[in-house]
Amino acid sequence: MRTPENIKDFSKLCIHTQTNRPWDLRRCVEEYHRAGVAGISVWRHLLEDITPREADRILKDHGMDVVSLVRGGFFTSVERARRELAIEDNLMAIEQAATIGAPLLVLVCGSDPGQSLEVSRDQIREGILKILPAAESEGVKLAIEPLHPMYAADRSAISTLSQANDMAEEINSVFLGVAVDVYHLWWDPLLQQEIGRCGEMGKLFAYHVCDWNVPLNDILNDRGLMGDGCIDLGQIRGWMEDAGFEGYREVEVFSDKYWAMDQVKYLDRIKRAYLEHS
Ligand code: ZN
Repeated sequence: MRTPENIKDFSKLCIHTQTNRPWDLRRCVEEYHRAGVAGISVWRHLLEDITPREADRILKDHGMDVVSLVRGGFFTSVERARRELAIEDNLMAIEQAATIGAPLLVLVCGSDPGQSLEVSRDQIREGILKILPAAESEGVKLAIEPLHPMYAADRSAISTLSQANDMAEEINSVFLGVAVDVYHLWWDPLLQQEIGRCGEMGKLFAYHVCDWNVPLNDILNDRGLMGDGCIDLGQIRGWMEDAGFEGYREVEVFSDKYWAMDQVKYLDRIKRAYLEHS
């Protein structure tokens, strides 16, 4: 099956390590490499077990293309001290991204139910402005990832691509852009228009794919694999390409069901779903 044509078909496939949550970083890298998957987005908690320098060596030894480090952000809090801690943590994340050769840090921006969404968005803007100089000097870009409004209370006060575009436009740095995740944005009637706008601004930094299960049994850990659910992935991919996006399609699936599977078999299934549906 490993004809050159097949390998070429996977040239835009990237997998988020959290998709294979039972595996540590080394195992993810070895298995992706064996499966002919070169793109990887590294989840940050995996850098608690090994140093970023060791991680960098493992990634380089296997010729992996590190697409992003996931994730920074969480800028919001009613408490000033917690907001300051978040800045420190983001600065560390930028340093880690630079060490492992990740050109992008994805931001889950945060929200605090103890304050209004407007105040949370002000804190997000302020947080991004504080870490931008470090991002610029380390050469690591930042991507605002809008999250589905069901997370507006405690994970992200930025719920739509329009809001993410507005903030990126206002801050106006070539180091700040947007991550489009179909799970969060597929329902938005303005999606095509806002993807186009984001592309025109040169701020389409990342594209995350999965599917929306019906029914959805858990808002966090019941994501579907591409083709399992109701998202028209072909249509959204077309909009991304029309907007000039040429980057990886990053498979990001949090799923208790799939995490319980044999992960090697699951990886095969991911590759099939990617080819058939993404
Ligand atoms: Zn995502």
